[in-house]
Amino acid sequence: SYDVVIVGAGHGGAQAALQLRTQKFEGSVAVIGEEPEVPYERPPLSKEYFSGDKTFDRILIRPATFWADRNIDMLLNRKVTAVDPTAHLLTLEDGSTVTYGKLIWATGGAPRKLVCSGHDLKGVHGVRTRADADRMMDELATTERVVVIGGGYIGLEAAAVLSKFGKHVTVLEALDRVLARVAAEPLSRFYEAEHRAHGVDVRLGVTVDCIEEKDGKATGVRLADGSVLPADMVIVGIGIIPAVEPLIAAGAEGGNGVAVDELCRTSLPDIWAIGDCALHKNDFADGITMRLESVQNANDQATTAVKAILGGTEPYHAVPWFWSNQYDLRLQTVGLSTGYDQTVLRGDPATRAFTLVYLRQGKVIALDCVNVVKDYVQGKALVVAGAEIAPEKLADASVPLKEMLA
Ligand code: FAD
Repeated sequence: SYDVVIVGAGHGGAQAALQLRTQKFEGSVAVIGEEPEVPYERPPLSKEYFSGDKTFDRILIRPATFWADRNIDMLLNRKVTAVDPTAHLLTLEDGSTVTYGKLIWATGGAPRKLVCSGHDLKGVHGVRTRADADRMMDELATTERVVVIGGGYIGLEAAAVLSKFGKHVTVLEALDRVLARVAAEPLSRFYEAEHRAHGVDVRLGVTVDCIEEKDGKATGVRLADGSVLPADMVIVGIGIIPAVEPLIAAGAEGGNGVAVDELCRTSLPDIWAIGDCALHKNDFADGITMRLESVQNANDQATTAVKAILGGTEPYHAVPWFWSNQYDLRLQTVGLSTGYDQTVLRGDPATRAFTLVYLRQGKVIALDCVNVVKDYVQGKALVVAGAEIAPEKLADASVPLKEMLA
């Protein structure tokens, strides 16, 4: 029995545990996590960890001893399968039970799988956990050809690392441009061209029919037009399914995620939810209800939930930010481009340093900054203010953004 139980030992769960102690909470705290590792950073799994530039020790959120030192029980290798909100009782996969005073649900999600035949063959990988990355890394020596399914950030980052390793990489995207879900066309075209310039075969508007196999191992990807792309490895980056089934089964509102209010409370008593699995109304998305998959959101919602548990009433209102590293390109985004009706380019993509500004009804709502740290840092204030700045002015890269705020 614990005063606070956190389910999920990832970014949000770690931050919630940390915040409880930072806020001087002295009650008992447990974090229950399905993975065997103490909390680690997930972004490097498709970047510095995958490329071998960082060892696993260097991506731990805190050193392994940190948690016990702060009297936080890490119950790892354990999965919560059922929640009884009336009894305040969790049931674990091994049949054991844990009772809680307050519960923070921070379970993230599992990679969405292809629905076609061959989706679970050896050589087919999702990218979500250290174990996923290790499995891919183990196979690299015997891999020449890789097909990446999905032209989102994770797929493109993996493609960049693999092409640096000299692999023959093909990226398949069902829509007519990469990053279509998260960015406007100029950014998509820029990354498409970069990948092609690095030898990646980017194919747009293609549909996967199935994964072909020999002796239980993937050998290629068959497209809807009947053609087959040979592959030793297939990486599937087509989004996640939020891990909320036990909560929904317990009666929580939601579906694609668990619904939370501005204090990260679910509809069930004494249960909060944060991070990738939390369906929330985001102030920076024009009040749209969404799940936001970012470290920023997991960390900031953790803080909101912990403060609320300790009696606070401060609603979640953190500025979204995100990053992606591909080749020598550092993309940093601030704000959310949801519902944009205009974009403005600052600088020339051909120089490989530029910013794409998103506007909605004349107001700056987001910026995608490629190798322009200054615009990222200064752009935040424009997003916070919802600044109305003439497009011609924004486009003038010789004028710093901070000088545009009246
Ligand atoms: P997670 O960090 O996924 O943690 C959830 C944990 O809960 C997992 O360990 C899971 O095993 C566990 N769990 C699930 N169900 C149960 C259960 N029933 N019982 C017990 N434990 C359970 N974000 C950025 O901002 N920038 C980036 O550059 C970036 N790159 C990324 C690259 C990759 C390859 C991936 C996978 C993600 C990336 N993200 C990035 C997204 C970011 O990692 C997530 O938004 C963040 O991890 C969300 O934190 P979370 O706590 O909600 O979930």
